[in-house]
Amino acid sequence: MNKTIYFIANWKMNGNHNSIREIEKVFDFFKKNTINKFKKIIFCPPSNLLSSFSTKIKSKLIDFGTQDISKINLNYGPHTGQLSAKILKDSGANYVIIGHSEKRLIDEDFKTIKEKINIALKNKLKIIFCIGENLSQKKMGLALKVLKKQILSSLDTKRINAKNLIIAYEPIWSIGTGIVPSNNYLDKIFINLKKFLKEKYNVNSPILLYGGSVTADNVSILRNISLISGFLIGGASLKSKSFIKIIKNYFK
Ligand code: PEP
Repeated sequence: MNKTIYFIANWKMNGNHNSIREIEKVFDFFKKNTINKFKKIIFCPPSNLLSSFSTKIKSKLIDFGTQDISKINLNYGPHTGQLSAKILKDSGANYVIIGHSEKRLIDEDFKTIKEKINIALKNKLKIIFCIGENLSQKKMGLALKVLKKQILSSLDTKRINAKNLIIAYEPIWSIGTGIVPSNNYLDKIFINLKKFLKEKYNVNSPILLYGGSVTADNVSILRNISLISGFLIGGASLKSKSFIKIIKNYFK
């Protein structure tokens, strides 16, 4: 069976109004090429760009997500600096990244992550939930323990299913470092995650992504990991050329 492969662009704190050109080039590429149709492209630009980008690019081929969401369970209100699920949905987001290690470092603890996930789901935003161990946890052999704790402390059994949740495994030691885990390491992680999600959440076919220094070169190796349904891509998603090359190489 052909499964959908996700290519999610996490632009982080990058981009301006001219960056729409990069998305347009990706869009043009798909219009001209009959590359494997079982793919889903999601751009997550900074939220100030979301509305204009999603208004300009109206296509089933390209979707949009946000990199954050308020934990306040209201549509509108006197909450300076907050963007509610409703505001983000109205700006064109259908997905939201939650639990990214860069956000965990600043202001996302387990409780906040859980609150954000539940508010997003209530508002029909799909979750891109990031989990990952740091280097010392990896060295101590604690990776799976850390991942399971991150999942259990954030995902509510009653709300989660295979359609509203994407899990992106992003080892912190791999993000932006150019270091990518071996396929053996990733195979072991993904086999265990799948088993765990079945046991605890009764999710049979979870959408599991890998993220961390993905490039056009290493995607040809990473694509051999059968449980991976795609990638969360930071640096290499900023320019259409490198992003398109990743997608091309995946389907080569
Ligand atoms: C990320 O931060 O989500 C990420 C995967 O970044 P990079 O691809 O730059 O390592």
